[in-house]
Amino acid sequence: MQDSERLKIAIVGSGPSGFYAAEALLGSGLDVQVDMFERLPTPFGLVRSGVAPDHQKLKQPIRVFEAIARSPRFNLVGNITIGLEISVEELRSAYHAVIFACGAQKDRRMDIPGEDLQGSHTATEFVGWYNGHPDYRDHTFDLNQEVAAIVGQGNVAADICRILMRPVDELRSSDIAEHALEALSESKVREVHIIGRRGPVQAKFTTKELREIASLTGTVSTIESGHLEFSDACSSELASNKSTVAHKNVEVFRSLSTNIPDGSRRHIHFRFLASPVAVLGEERVESLRLVRNRLSGDPFNQSAIATERVEDLSCGLVFRSIGYKGVAIPGLPFDHIRGVVPNKAGRIHANGAVLPRLFVTGWLKRGPSGIIGTNRADSLETVQALLEDLSTFAPSRAPGLDSILPILEGRSARVVSLVDWLAIDGAEVERGNKAGKPREKFTRIEEMISVLSRRDEKDLQEDTSNVHARESALQN
Ligand code: NAP
Repeated sequence: MQDSERLKIAIVGSGPSGFYAAEALLGSGLDVQVDMFERLPTPFGLVRSGVAPDHQKLKQPIRVFEAIARSPRFNLVGNITIGLEISVEELRSAYHAVIFACGAQKDRRMDIPGEDLQGSHTATEFVGWYNGHPDYRDHTFDLNQEVAAIVGQGNVAADICRILMRPVDELRSSDIAEHALEALSESKVREVHIIGRRGPVQAKFTTKELREIASLTGTVSTIESGHLEFSDACSSELASNKSTVAHKNVEVFRSLSTNIPDGSRRHIHFRFLASPVAVLGEERVESLRLVRNRLSGDPFNQSAIATERVEDLSCGLVFRSIGYKGVAIPGLPFDHIRGVVPNKAGRIHANGAVLPRLFVTGWLKRGPSGIIGTNRADSLETVQALLEDLSTFAPSRAPGLDSILPILEGRSARVVSLVDWLAIDGAEVERGNKAGKPREKFTRIEEMISVLSRRDEKDLQEDTSNVHARESALQN
């Protein structure tokens, strides 16, 4: 098939949902070219900069993504921001279809007074910082504080808690960013409160993650008393076969109920039925005001209702970890409440009508839920929708990168290709080997680009000396 007849698809975002969409397209049996656009010079999205460094096994999907990227019908177009260096409309004009797989890059807000006080942080900032994400390289966290509060009881809260409380020596052989390792090695944080607005039955941790926190070296975990006697609604949730995780979580919480904190160990408190109503402090965080809740509603539909009981929790750091939120992309419709692009089975909609040839997948499509693998089925659904619509857009001309690269060049954008990424990857792994780590990440975009400049310089010198060698061989 001629290149002009090949189906050309742009995918925006190189995290799990983007790669699973590429996998589905490349495995569709059609002659398809996939060009994956990525804002950073580095691919893999949250697998690189979200998965906690002490969970290296969860990064294994990268091997699958690398195999997908090796396809001769795949290009990486890194270091390019859609909406800034190239518009949605320009992409749509160049490709048969565009799939947006940009994830959920921000956090939901608590919308309470004091939320932006110094010392009050988002999960995105902290997670991005310890994972070496360039956007968060220069964030600082006052780890001289002894007490931290984490709002939310999901797996991201669990990650934050572990990174704060795990002995730093257990992180040294991970791919944690060097600046974070240094800061954590000086950390004075000794107490972490993980606060849930509902009860132990509704905590969103998976049991493996919960057990891991509960068994951290040098820490003792406790649970507030009185929260393990359940109402009829909670008991019936627990009795349901839909609740295997909750059931196991409650067993873990029960095992903590006899723990006694002692001054020699760091302390993790699980707190329930409490919602922050204000972050208090003059210049910076001094405490978190919590209102006590009760649960109301039918099993599996119980919500937290504030009571009149209020208490102040003294703490110097607050991390809100109450869910991520997608960010609007200029040129695309956006549901600002849910933080997603409106869609039906992945087809992007505006005011109820389909926007032809534009698709969405992953957290930007369904909201921030599920594990990495959840995105595989989600992206398959989006690609199926795209393939069903094929006949509606097939004859349109799709120059793909032939028209996009000159536009980017005209705008002085520095595209990072797959070969470029492999050079950055190799340099990171080499730095890591010296430090006994899987890799030492570059945490600034300039550092990544300068790896490429050094490589280009070296290649040029080698080329020049080859030319000289050939010239002198000819002269002799
Ligand atoms: P999550 O699992 O949805 O948990 C969010 C937590 O915030 C819940 O406890 C929720 O309570 C609470 N919350 C929401 N709004 C709140 C508010 N206004 N005030 C107080 N609390 C509030 O989200 P996540 O922890 O960000 O994780 C996102 C996804 O990534 C999840 O599917 C998670 O499993 C996954 N993940 C997996 C791993 C892993 O596999 N190791 C690691 C990290 C993340 P309610 O239940 O009451 O809403």
